Amino acid sequence: MKQSPHKPEQQREQLLREIDHLARRVLFGTISETYRTCGTPSCSCHGDGPKHGPHLYVSYRGDKGKTTGYYVPKLIQAQVRDGVTAWSTLQDLLRQLARLNKERLLETGRRKKAAFATGSN
Ligand SMILES: [Zn+2]
Repeated sequence: MKQSPHKPEQQREQLLREIDHLARRVLFGTISETYRTCGTPSCSCHGDGPKHGPHLYVSYRGDKGKTTGYYVPKLIQAQVRDGVTAWSTLQDLLRQLARLNKERLLETGRRKKAAFATGSN
């Protein structure tokens, strides 16, 4: 059997590992940042000072197609950003995996066909 220089099988295993890794922390939605004034009237945010933020808000389309979302507590902002980035990285990797799966399947089809053609002698 001919070995391709790209070693698609190895490439596929690597992709599956990365996908597994990303899938564990994936989050769905679009991040927006808002700046707000607080409840203290004397705070500089009500005057010339900077407003408080950024407050992270994640919006996404819910089950019934309605847009919904949630505010992200400061302590987990980094993880939430990471999770949302993981979503788009996953889309890329899944597309690559789908291509490898397709090539693999077509190759299997070709091999079966060859075996069928020569197998009954
Ligand atoms: Zn304030």
